[in-house]
Amino acid sequence: MRIPFNKPYMTGKELWYISQAHGNSHLAGDGVFTRQCSQWLEQRIGCRKALLTHSCTAALEMAAILADLGPGDEVIMPSYTFVSTANAFVLRGAVPVFVDIRADTLNIDETKIEAAITPRTRAIVPVHYAGVACEMDVIMDIALRHNLIVIEDAAQGIMSSYKGRALGSIGHLACLSFHETKNIISGEGGALLVNDSEFSQRAEIIREKGTNRSQFFRGLVDKYTWCDVGSSYLPGELIAAFLWAQMEEADAITAKRQEHWGLYHRLLATFEEKGRLRRPRIPPNCTHNAHMYYLLLPDLQVRSAFITAMKQQGVATVFHYVPLHSAPAGLRFGRSCGTLNVTDSVAKRLVRLPLWVGLDDGVKTVVAAVDAALG
Ligand SMILES: *Cc1c(COP(=O)(O)O)cnc(C)c1O
Repeated sequence: MRIPFNKPYMTGKELWYISQAHGNSHLAGDGVFTRQCSQWLEQRIGCRKALLTHSCTAALEMAAILADLGPGDEVIMPSYTFVSTANAFVLRGAVPVFVDIRADTLNIDETKIEAAITPRTRAIVPVHYAGVACEMDVIMDIALRHNLIVIEDAAQGIMSSYKGRALGSIGHLACLSFHETKNIISGEGGALLVNDSEFSQRAEIIREKGTNRSQFFRGLVDKYTWCDVGSSYLPGELIAAFLWAQMEEADAITAKRQEHWGLYHRLLATFEEKGRLRRPRIPPNCTHNAHMYYLLLPDLQVRSAFITAMKQQGVATVFHYVPLHSAPAGLRFGRSCGTLNVTDSVAKRLVRLPLWVGLDDGVKTVVAAVDAALG
């Protein structure tokens, strides 16, 4: 492909920091670089505690353990999301309850959440699709009134905000991803953010195989031992060293992506005016990190022809998601509340355009290809 869909951006300092980690002879987790990364997250996001994990999936699994979910407990979430949003809870025997998304932001429709609450409901998982915030004030208010935990799936949301608050700082818990397809990357990687300090100590224990090793290393206890359920959720220092190089450049990376996103948005305005496609919507109280540029096309047939025509012009475009409520595992482990018409419609019509640091003039090439592909 002349223009690939994604191209991981490297700042140039990754190998330098990895060589420092190598020189420190501390290769396991929770060394100097892990500390720097978690402090950076705590300062930039304003969460109480940030714990690096080996993926966002791992952070979601930790959140499901922290929420003390058991078999039959219910978790409300959108169907239009990545599988890990649901899988983490299914692993605990909980039931994902899928509700529809809003037609504008493609985020969970907050007006449909209350109808999905039953005596078994324990948590709500809003997913900030494309790095654009869910309607968090309404969601937090529902959670407060029904005594539910809110776990933000902020896999795509680093450096975005809602009413001036960073995504990941609003729910009781939040999960980030540093997968190479996200904005700030370490290959595989993630973080659990803790905003309700009630969860802080247990989160550390779950992450360290169910032991109080973190407290032992801080000199708070004189031996460490098995205290709780847990697993190994922490990344090694080489990953954290890579990630540190990215965090140092996080503002520049975000600005560059926003530039590309803005150019797409301007160049595609007339396409929308002529009814050929629909562009993303950003609510006025949100700033976003330009994680994704997507188009909504008229129907599935147009989208299939579009992806083929783009490919013929050397431009890779992709679609997602197969809605979880209609996937084999979703049918087996979850259930839907109400109709999921927006979800079903969007899943057939959405296509993502290439967006990566270094794309530069490629944005114009892509838009010219869009013009030709739509005929
Ligand atoms: C990428 C993504 C995940 C999973 O992240 P990993 O770090 O790959 O585990 C989960 N949820 C959403 C919404 C994502 O986009």
